[in-house]
Amino acid sequence: MTEKDNISAVSGIGPKKQALFYKLGIHTLRDAQDYYPRDYEDRTRILPVAQLTEGQRAAIFVTVGTEPTTRRVRKGLDITRFKVFDASGVLWLTYYNNRYGTAVLHVGGTYVFYGKVQGSGAQRTMMNPASEFVPKGAEPPRRMQPIYPLTAGLTQKDFARVMAQALAAPCGAEWLPEDIAQRYQLLRHAEAVQLIHQPPNARAIALARRRLIFEELFLLCCGLARLKDRRTDAVGLRFSQGTPEDFWKLLPFAPTGAQVRAAREIWQDVQTGRPMNRLVQGDVGSGKTVLAAVLCYLAAQNGYQSAIMAPTEILAAQHMESLSGIFARVGIRCALLLGSMTARQKAACKAQIAAGEVQVVIGTHALIQKDVAFHNLGAVVVDEQHRFGVAQRAMLHEKGQTPHVLVMSATPIPRTLALILYGDLDVSIVDELPPGRTPVETFAVGERMRRRIEAFIEKQLVAGGQVYVVCPLVEEGELPLKSAEEHGAALQKCLPHRRIGVLHGKMKAADKDEIMRRFAQGEIDVLVATTVIEVGVNVPNACLMVIEDADRFGLSQLHQLRGRVGRGTRESYCVCFGADKGAQAKERLKVLCGTNDGFEIARADLAQRGPGDFFGKRQHGLPVLHVADLSADLSLMQQAKDEAAALLARDPLLAAYPELRERVRQMFSDHAQEIFN
Ligand code: ADP
Ligand code: MG
Repeated sequence: MTEKDNISAVSGIGPKKQALFYKLGIHTLRDAQDYYPRDYEDRTRILPVAQLTEGQRAAIFVTVGTEPTTRRVRKGLDITRFKVFDASGVLWLTYYNNRYGTAVLHVGGTYVFYGKVQGSGAQRTMMNPASEFVPKGAEPPRRMQPIYPLTAGLTQKDFARVMAQALAAPCGAEWLPEDIAQRYQLLRHAEAVQLIHQPPNARAIALARRRLIFEELFLLCCGLARLKDRRTDAVGLRFSQGTPEDFWKLLPFAPTGAQVRAAREIWQDVQTGRPMNRLVQGDVGSGKTVLAAVLCYLAAQNGYQSAIMAPTEILAAQHMESLSGIFARVGIRCALLLGSMTARQKAACKAQIAAGEVQVVIGTHALIQKDVAFHNLGAVVVDEQHRFGVAQRAMLHEKGQTPHVLVMSATPIPRTLALILYGDLDVSIVDELPPGRTPVETFAVGERMRRRIEAFIEKQLVAGGQVYVVCPLVEEGELPLKSAEEHGAALQKCLPHRRIGVLHGKMKAADKDEIMRRFAQGEIDVLVATTVIEVGVNVPNACLMVIEDADRFGLSQLHQLRGRVGRGTRESYCVCFGADKGAQAKERLKVLCGTNDGFEIARADLAQRGPGDFFGKRQHGLPVLHVADLSADLSLMQQAKDEAAALLARDPLLAAYPELRERVRQMFSDHAQEIFN
């Protein structure tokens, strides 16, 4: 990066603004080229003043008729008004707190104003319109005005300045293979960038977007295909010994119909001689763990090891607890491998794994460390798969030859995304809860209910139940949200005779486990925790969950959280604070109160937040997409996927396409190492 490419070289951009642009990820003029508008104002059509209607956003070409006059309505609110006219009529313009902005307008001058029309008849006005001076006799400019996503302290005018210079700078070399660009009649990259920032009309925007979406999806598909190619092999292990029925006999309960069905699908897969690649989707509490166990059982019966990777240590430990006893009855040995174990414990565990002395290995990310070597890994289970990235799954897979893979999720993935992430994925659905579950009654409440909720907590405790209180993670520099620790202390004051425990992510694993163990054994009445309890943990006596600042969570996550209660015979409740945080928060929480169906909630969540947030980068391991929308750009996605596959079949390392390879690397910067080596 040279000095003159930095956005600070743009006149009018001082150190303060520079820092704000950096905050948006814009360091250089090239970065600015890649920062696309979020919307446009259509100023191509200029309307006669007489035709304006209430609520409309419009451009007008007018002469200023009166001197702007400013009136102070109250402290902090000035209103400036003046008249403008064209051949068709007269209109008042109104500005809030813009005395100085309007001072530069002069009576008799001609301008284009763009803004929203409010009121009708004599009250009709345009509020805070943008203005542009037009010299006498000149044609008014007609254009699509780009609107950039801003951050506090920056204005559209700042962007206009930076973009004017950025678009004059050279655009990177064209990198999309020529034949592909022709086949889909795509613009060149440089053209598309020019048009997305300065489109003459709506059609130009559509053309530019099409190219930019295609290239983004194409890069995504190239990267994903590279990740996937590293694990597709035609020949898989054949597990011919053992049946799910043998396994069911080991359980203390009868499997549900849905479990029987899913287990049979797994069993069929592992007998085909091709590697299984199956996703099990089932609501929280539907009993997916035993399906993992079925696969591990079949692997062991055929002399292979298996691994279950869980997102948290608590959950891994719980799987260990529930499975090791069952497996012990048929001589299958389990081992638990956690990052928090001492070096010595880990070494001993790894030695057992390498020697094949244990058949089922349960653990966290610790399982995919370089120094973990399996004796003969034949099956891999990834629990709560949305918590892991594509690369992490691939790494576990590579610990074996061509192991069978089962991924389990309580968050349904829309088909499109499944198609991209797994391609040849098969799906089993566990749509039945084990018998005896009572649906969790859910309430959304506001702050004024706090006293009553505290009394409700006490009531549950008196009745012999236990309570979870969940607080959102507090990120540094954030405004007053309750941290688990503070909230625990406050609650202790209000319930002095109760045993209150606190659990949060920053605690040592051993301390976390100790608190969790004490809660599970009834030695703690109220557990105040962050979302570390989100997945999996099972305390049947817990019958109330109170979620603080529930508006801060995604719906699917709230549903997962609430799945921690209602696991026993007690009548169970979930109380969400945050219903007083605005109409949108209230609306979202209402969905949760209305249904206990995780699939329905996931759909609502996806619709409300869009896939970008739903599958946050951190959670899913997918790169962030800037223009493409995985739920909307389906047909382009398919085309991009086909083209990526065809190109990679010819040139797997993209040796002939260095710029393209560089772009893919950039997009997958999290695992660029693994993609092309
Ligand atoms: P999830 O699908 O959320 O992972 P789990 O596998 O943790 O659900 O199961 C939740 C609880 O239900 C566990 O305590 C498990 O032992 C129990 N369970 C699973 N299947 C059955 C069944 N068929 N009958 C009774 N209880 C079951
Ligand atoms: Mg589970």
